[in-house]
Amino acid sequence: MSEKKGILQRLAEGPVVGDGSMCFILEKRGYAKAGPWTPEAVIEYPDAVLQLHKEYVRSGADVVQTASFYSNDDKLAYGRKGEEVIHTSAEINDAACKLAKKAADENGCLVCGGFSPVPSYKKSGVEAARVEYRKQAKVYQEHDVDFVMAEFFHDINEIELCASEMKKLNKPIALCMRVGLMGDVNGVSPEECAIRMAKTGAEIIGTNCSYDTDTSLKVMKRIVNALKKEDLHPYLICQPIGYVCPDAENSPIGFYSLIEYPLCLDPRSMTRIEAHKFAREAWEIGVRYIGGCCGFEPHHIRAIAQELAAERGRKPPVEDMAQAFGGEYFKTSLVSDIASGETATREYWMNMKPGFGRPFNPSCSKPKEVKFN
Ligand SMILES: [Zn+2]
Repeated sequence: MSEKKGILQRLAEGPVVGDGSMCFILEKRGYAKAGPWTPEAVIEYPDAVLQLHKEYVRSGADVVQTASFYSNDDKLAYGRKGEEVIHTSAEINDAACKLAKKAADENGCLVCGGFSPVPSYKKSGVEAARVEYRKQAKVYQEHDVDFVMAEFFHDINEIELCASEMKKLNKPIALCMRVGLMGDVNGVSPEECAIRMAKTGAEIIGTNCSYDTDTSLKVMKRIVNALKKEDLHPYLICQPIGYVCPDAENSPIGFYSLIEYPLCLDPRSMTRIEAHKFAREAWEIGVRYIGGCCGFEPHHIRAIAQELAAERGRKPPVEDMAQAFGGEYFKTSLVSDIASGETATREYWMNMKPGFGRPFNPSCSKPKEVKFN
């Protein structure tokens, strides 16, 4: 059997499709708690986690990220707010690696070990944070994951610190910050964040979470220009949220400022067609690693894989029932406008403006104003 191609080789050859949301979707299905968003499910409900991994793989994802978001010991304790902490981060991350590997191995996908911010960075300082990162790194080393990714960081100083620990693993590194147009928690611009992330030596840098596809692409365009000026050439990654929230664009915390966060976001869910458009535009501006964060579901990932099928030289393992804009179903329908072929075209779907209004609801809500402590 030939060796599995690594992440850097895959990125050199063309688009890499990431996976989608884990904690948001597991929460919806009853296997995680909104609020803490910690992944005890890898131990308590392994079948549920494995099933979701498999759905992303079946949708065409090249990468399975370990379901280890916020799995560091001080966050696990914080999440349980005084309740007994049953599982250590080492136990959770060990189980997360096993599940990710199981799902990935079936289809030759890569396993990515994830790092996320640790409360001790602010609470107890740099050395305490390092201890948490080292505990996570140890598990990824033991399981020999294919590469590692830091995501959801809102402070460039903290992601630099995390990167310095990740480097010791001698694996390819991806760094993602949840920055919007306003920059990080200290007001450092997305341009500056990108330059500093690239200068850590990370091979892949970009954004994830907090902002929708449109805002994230605006940020990525600024990042592309900034890196060009500095003659820096990391691969670019973008994994936005799967909700439509242009009204959160000017909040420093993005969709966390919405009054609907986190329990009433459903009406803002993006369509698969919006995922097609996101994939196309991201690819065209130079993003190579394209996936999703909170709210991105398997059908969104499938849309990315379908949109970039020609560039990747292959289709996802399963295409959607509509067979990507025009299957035989549409042409044989008894309903006349469908049978005429109008709905069997890419143009029809790409120009779709779906109605989503609810009578008697306001058409738009107003995001909360945010001040940092
Ligand atoms: Zn997210």
